[in-house]
Amino acid sequence: MPDGGDAVVPVLIGGRWEEARATRWADVFNPSRGVRIARTPLCGADDVNRAVTAAAGAFPAWAETPAVERARVMFRLRELLVREQEALASLVSREHGKTRSEARAGVQRGIEVVEFACGLPSLLAGDHVQNLAPGIDCTAVRHPLGVCVGITPFNFPVMVPLWMLPVALTCGNTFVLKPSEKTPLSAIRLAELFHEAGLPDGVLNVVHGDQECVTALVTHPQVQAISFVGSTRVAQAVHELGTRLGKRVQAGGGAKNHLLVLPDADLEVALSGVLASAFGCAGERCMAGSVVAPIGNGADEFVERLCERVGALTVGPTDTGDEPDMGPVISSEARDRVVGYLAGAEMEGARVCADGRRRQFDTNGFLLGPSVVDAVEPTMRVAREEVFGPLLAVLRAPDLETALSGGAASGFGNGAVLFTRSGPAAREFARRFPAGMLGINVGVPAPMAWFPFAGWNRSFFGDLHMQGVEGMQFYTRQQVIMARW
Ligand code: NAD
Repeated sequence: MPDGGDAVVPVLIGGRWEEARATRWADVFNPSRGVRIARTPLCGADDVNRAVTAAAGAFPAWAETPAVERARVMFRLRELLVREQEALASLVSREHGKTRSEARAGVQRGIEVVEFACGLPSLLAGDHVQNLAPGIDCTAVRHPLGVCVGITPFNFPVMVPLWMLPVALTCGNTFVLKPSEKTPLSAIRLAELFHEAGLPDGVLNVVHGDQECVTALVTHPQVQAISFVGSTRVAQAVHELGTRLGKRVQAGGGAKNHLLVLPDADLEVALSGVLASAFGCAGERCMAGSVVAPIGNGADEFVERLCERVGALTVGPTDTGDEPDMGPVISSEARDRVVGYLAGAEMEGARVCADGRRRQFDTNGFLLGPSVVDAVEPTMRVAREEVFGPLLAVLRAPDLETALSGGAASGFGNGAVLFTRSGPAAREFARRFPAGMLGINVGVPAPMAWFPFAGWNRSFFGDLHMQGVEGMQFYTRQQVIMARW
């Protein structure tokens, strides 16, 4: 693809890169500078139909390809991704704005899913019982579903597509990917690498767009299953629409992750964990801590030291040789939204103790310093809603019981963390906190490829999560064969 502000992002249909037939277009930015780096099509039903038809046409041959051969494509892909890791990280950083090391870590997480997929043939093996009844044998086997669709968010442009693609494809499905219209360039490069690894034409197709494109994909009669990752409102809508039409849907949504700090915690471990969780990737992570609850004695000292550390974080563009602690947010709208939450918290009576609005930058990028608001009450918007930016709310709690119920009240259920040296407290937290991914003295407890990415409540809609064995189960259906000879 040509580089520069007028470069046009292509679609991939049946193995051919071509210009979309779209009538609407969106700008892709370098958030570090606030300048356009490409134009992406907002595809409609025509492009979607061509992509789904190509995927449906490629399905019979791909499903018939032995699983070990499909897995060999993943072995080759793994080598290509390792070779290209630095270049991919640079592309992610350019269109998303996160730092190079954050981008590299995201690509690494994606590579681990490919490594998991290399071993899928053994997981795809079925069950067999001889002489289930006199003279009757029973065999259970797994079949791929057909055409699957992936709709992904802007914040992990390589990792989230790789939660889906290696597992879906190795299980024998064909796929249409619709990456975020804000970060489509990494997905394009990823699809090129799948082909370089030997994936046949039509097995993976890529279209771009917004609601119109998503609706056309979800409602297409030849689409069997939808994997979605994004905000809760859209996740719920996609889940409702898809399941009403009888399709399988797994839909990861937004989050409001609580970080609980008991007075017996190792302060340094807690501070570093909270900083990494709240401000890594500029807070644009579904596992980002957005509420910290210092519990009981020591909250004053904790908040004071936290704000000192936040004030010392470096913030800047990520497209220079320097590596700041934090890069820009994705867009000027995202920056305005975070500033709006900060102003709203002040109006509701919270106290801004680290103010990212005061930072000055000599670029037009979408930069904003990290902020902390103290004296937050559970009823305030900043305590209840996902902010998705570099803003941490302090919700002080007199005891663990209050902090646990504060976390439960959010209604989300992605992640939560407890910092403590107490085994009994950690056990209580793990048994009672209603979220799918918990950390004990670990700031960002995002599971690795062989575990499910296990959101609960308003952070996930569906039954089977992405990654791991659940991912394989989502992308296959079982068949039981009873035989008497
Ligand atoms: P988003 O919901 O705006 O967009 C996600 C995808 O849905 C994109 O491909 C987008 O084009 C499409 N989309 C947007 N609006 C739509 C609509 N009205 N109808 C149909 N499709 C629509 O999310 P985002 O801003 O790209 O990403 C950030 C969100 O994703 C945050 O809420 C974050 O918590 C969440 N997220 C969740 C997980 C998880 O595993 N649960 C992981 C990463 C990000």
